[in-house]
Amino acid sequence: MQAYIGLGSNQQDPEKQVSRALLALHEMQDMDLLKSSSLYESRPMGPPDQPNFVNAVAKISTELYPVELLAALQFVEQQHRRVRSMQRWGPRTLDLDILLYGDLEMSTEELRIPHPGISKREFVLIPLQEIEGNLIIPGQGSLHELIERLPQYQLTKIATPDVGP
Ligand code: AMP
Repeated sequence: MQAYIGLGSNQQDPEKQVSRALLALHEMQDMDLLKSSSLYESRPMGPPDQPNFVNAVAKISTELYPVELLAALQFVEQQHRRVRSMQRWGPRTLDLDILLYGDLEMSTEELRIPHPGISKREFVLIPLQEIEGNLIIPGQGSLHELIERLPQYQLTKIATPDVGP
C-alpha cells in the first residue's frame, strides 16, 4: 500500500528533527521511503507565540495496516523525545501524521484517514503537490482544486532533503 506521511516540528532544531525523521522512515524495516518533499517553513497554525514550523511530506510503501503504521510513526515520534503538551496545536519536537493510505477512508476514535486537516493546510498541500501533482484526495477532490481554494500561501521552501531516492 502507498501512503503519505506529514512531518512537522518547531522545537529543538526543527530542520534537523524533520530530516532525521525522514531518515528514520527510510531506515525502517516495515516501509520503503519512495519520495520526500523539500522542507518548508510555515507559520504556526495554533497559538502564535511559538516558533515557526518546518514541514515536509513523504510518500512510502508499506504492508503495515493503518493502526500498525500509526504505532510505527508514534515510535519515531517518541525516539525524538516528543513530549505531548496539553495545548492543542502547541509546540512539538516532532509530529507525524498519516495523510493518506491508498484510497482508504476511515474514521475511528484513534485514526481518521484522510487526515482531517489535509484540505485546508498549505503546509500539507504544497509539499504533497511537489511529490505527486495529480493526487485525488478521497472524499475531497483533486489536489489541484484544494490548492486553488487556499486563501494564500505563507510557505517558504528552505531545503531539499538529503535522504531517500
Ligand atoms: P497529534 O500528534 O496531536 O497530531 O495527535 C495525534 C493523535 O491523533 C494520535 O493519538 C492519533 O490517534 C490521532 N489521529 C487521528 N487520525 C490520525 C492520522 N491520520 N494520523 C495521525 N494521528 C491521527
